[in-house]
Amino acid sequence: PKWVYSFGGGHADGSAADKDRLGGKGAHLAEMSRIGLPVPPGFTIATDMCAAYYENGRKLPDALRPMVDEALVQMASYTGAHFGDVEHPLLVSVRSGARASMPGMMDTVLNLGLNDETVEGLARRTGERRFAYDTYRRFIQMYADVVLGVDHGLFEDILENYKALKGYELDPELQAEDWIEIVARFKSLVEKELGLRFPQSLRDQLWGAIAAVFGSWQNARAIAYRRLHDIPDDWGTAVTVQTMVFGNKGDNSATGVVFTRNPSTGENELFGEFLLNAQGEDVVAGLRTPQPLTKQASAANGNGKVSLEEAMPEAFAKLKHNCAALERHFRDLQDIEFTIEAGELFMLQTRAGKRSTQAALKIAVDMAGEGIITQEEAVMRIDPAHLDQLLHPTLDPNADMTVLAKGLPASPGAASGEIVFDADEAVHLKSQGHTVILARIETSPEDVQGMHAAAGILTTRGGMTSHAAVVARGMGRPCVAGVAAAHIDLERETLEASGVVLRKGDIVTIDGSSGKIIKGRVTMRQPDLSPDFATLMEWADGLRRMEVRANADTPADAGMHRDFGAEGIGLCRTEHMFFQDNRIVAMREMILAETKEARRAALAELLPEQRQDFMALFKIMKGLPVTIRLFDPPLHEFLPHEEDAIADVAEAMGVEIARLSRRIAVLSEFNPMLGQRGARLLVSYPEIVDMQARAIFEAAIESGKELHDRVRPEIMVPLVATKRELDLIKERIAETARAVEKERETTLAFQVGSMVELPRACLVAGEIAESAEFFSFGTNDLTQTTFGLSRDDAGRFLGEYADKGIINHDPFMTLDAAVGELMEIGVERGRAVRPDLKIGICGEHGGDPETIGFCEKIGLTYVSCSPYRVPVARLAAAQAAV
Ligand code: PEP
Ligand code: MG
Repeated sequence: PKWVYSFGGGHADGSAADKDRLGGKGAHLAEMSRIGLPVPPGFTIATDMCAAYYENGRKLPDALRPMVDEALVQMASYTGAHFGDVEHPLLVSVRSGARASMPGMMDTVLNLGLNDETVEGLARRTGERRFAYDTYRRFIQMYADVVLGVDHGLFEDILENYKALKGYELDPELQAEDWIEIVARFKSLVEKELGLRFPQSLRDQLWGAIAAVFGSWQNARAIAYRRLHDIPDDWGTAVTVQTMVFGNKGDNSATGVVFTRNPSTGENELFGEFLLNAQGEDVVAGLRTPQPLTKQASAANGNGKVSLEEAMPEAFAKLKHNCAALERHFRDLQDIEFTIEAGELFMLQTRAGKRSTQAALKIAVDMAGEGIITQEEAVMRIDPAHLDQLLHPTLDPNADMTVLAKGLPASPGAASGEIVFDADEAVHLKSQGHTVILARIETSPEDVQGMHAAAGILTTRGGMTSHAAVVARGMGRPCVAGVAAAHIDLERETLEASGVVLRKGDIVTIDGSSGKIIKGRVTMRQPDLSPDFATLMEWADGLRRMEVRANADTPADAGMHRDFGAEGIGLCRTEHMFFQDNRIVAMREMILAETKEARRAALAELLPEQRQDFMALFKIMKGLPVTIRLFDPPLHEFLPHEEDAIADVAEAMGVEIARLSRRIAVLSEFNPMLGQRGARLLVSYPEIVDMQARAIFEAAIESGKELHDRVRPEIMVPLVATKRELDLIKERIAETARAVEKERETTLAFQVGSMVELPRACLVAGEIAESAEFFSFGTNDLTQTTFGLSRDDAGRFLGEYADKGIINHDPFMTLDAAVGELMEIGVERGRAVRPDLKIGICGEHGGDPETIGFCEKIGLTYVSCSPYRVPVARLAAAQAAV
């Protein structure tokens, strides 16, 4: 098999199409080389070697050696530098690169190829002894840490002690002789720690580094990251070995990161930062504050730092040109690493840039406008799950607030929560229902799960391309980075700024759009959606087949849904209309009534309120379909349980407490979710149907007059298991309809349909469809009853089930495949009887993008979902249809 793919000198064995085998980095390096960009030559060992490495007992197979040797010779042919040649030594970097980007999760070794001899050769050839030995000590430190397992901090200690001894403050003050001394001390540290000399064989070094990078695929943080991002363990990583170029060769050298557009706002401008006379890791580590790339950014930030555009105009012009070429070539925002060595620009990496949702929208819409991508592609580029971020609140500009400090606006959105200083603690508190803001000096890949658990992230160090900023944007978490004016004491778990000390658990607010850190909670405002949002949604609407409706219980909800673009109401849970304070009394009276007369009296009180609500709903929805579900109260949710509450209800009902308690005991069920709910309640108490049908019809007539249009309500019966249940209830509805038509001397148009939320209903869907004029899948109950898993109690142990790999996801969030199969049966059998049967879904799953994809596949007519999910569903439905 071919394991090694060379690139360089305008050629490459592989291309961008080989991402699966070469990893993102390797494939893109190959592609950049092909299109003639200045890429330092190198080779990539394919991802299948990763599996081979593990199968071989964490050893590289011997067959790989000659392939690597050959590739090294080819590299030499491009640069003239030879691996192991003392006079013209070749130095390489060894990096990981998986199919999906896993930033910083795996290991890297830089400056490999130095030993006591080649370092002298490098010094002679470059005429820079200081540079050569600085490079050597960097290599020893990194290699010892990554490959040999010697703690990084021990090297830092040596360096710090040495500097203190000599009275140096900064690394640039160290001379060649100093670095030579440091190298000696580093080597003896390794010897002391391992009882071995630091390896002088370059082949051993290279072999060790390649093996270590493959080995880092299975380190704890890489595994955790894959869990979080659903990346399969068996993909493996590729390893890229590439000629080193040096950004630390003096003041006409530099290294930096550039995004082809602003990844925070989406603005079409180069965005990034660089460090003069530095190596790549220095930028990422955030130890020195980088400088802006463009004159414009330099002016805007006002920190007086010279931009690359000003410092190295020629190299900047080339960079700008290459950025444009890469963006056009890959047809997406690129996140690029570059190095300038003695005035010469090299492109080291390019990948699709992570971006905030706002930026994603703007970039997709702009690129479609610029003709780089099609509108359909623009729609496909937005992750529906991230739209949530746009719909999140922002700070109310008029709110009172105590701003403690300002940092970089690294990822938009605002959040308030308890401040915590430890990632694991963030995870723990989140699992207990707390909302937390994770505060760190800087973040590292170990913090990723804590960042995910946090509502927002703040760091006191690092720039807009720091780990915290990049990861937060990708996750859609608000983030303020580099709040230099704040001091975090990790030991004492405090953050101090402007003379205020916040302790762990204190409430803090961060605004990732302005960079503000604010004491306490701040009132928030609903977001203004950008015109790009509307544009993209319009394109999405043009592509989708399924309708998107909303679950709305109150007229206020319905108003909001219309704003988000719902095309009707797919579920109005009428019992929820009575959850509010004074209304619940009448509802309880109705439920607790001992006689038909008492119940009718209580229902008579409910009637005007119901009619009122329905009228408001119909008017807001202006002729769009409104699906009203008859009462489905799990009785326990409405019965008073505590003594005080029972006493209150008794008083309101004018009955004795003891009598009421007896009635509650009679009605109480062992398993209310499977008790006298839904259709069962309506069969036993048909007077409820009479009242609700009357309220619906009278409201339809009244609002129809106002709208000058006929209102055609869709009445839905919950928890139907048999056709006969539905028939009984349907007949009651029809009787009421006839009565109202007669009283009002008019005719009514309406449909009666069935919820399909029990396995039995799916199986007998053919029979039910003889009576039902539409179906709506209640996947909450269908999941509960298919699994025999209580909706209200499952949370307690589903977490453990996920940890133990029993389930991949919470079946109450993303539809389970077996539940899906029941739905498929329901659709098939229902439509066999009534081919044009309208079928929707109204469980929580109706707003889940993956489930929506499934609904498209099985041909549902519409999905209906809860607040804020409507845009998500519109987009997901469009993507499913493409
Ligand atoms: C369902 O069961 O999916 C449903 C929509 O009804 P409810 O959640 O009210 O039981
Ligand atoms: Mg239900």
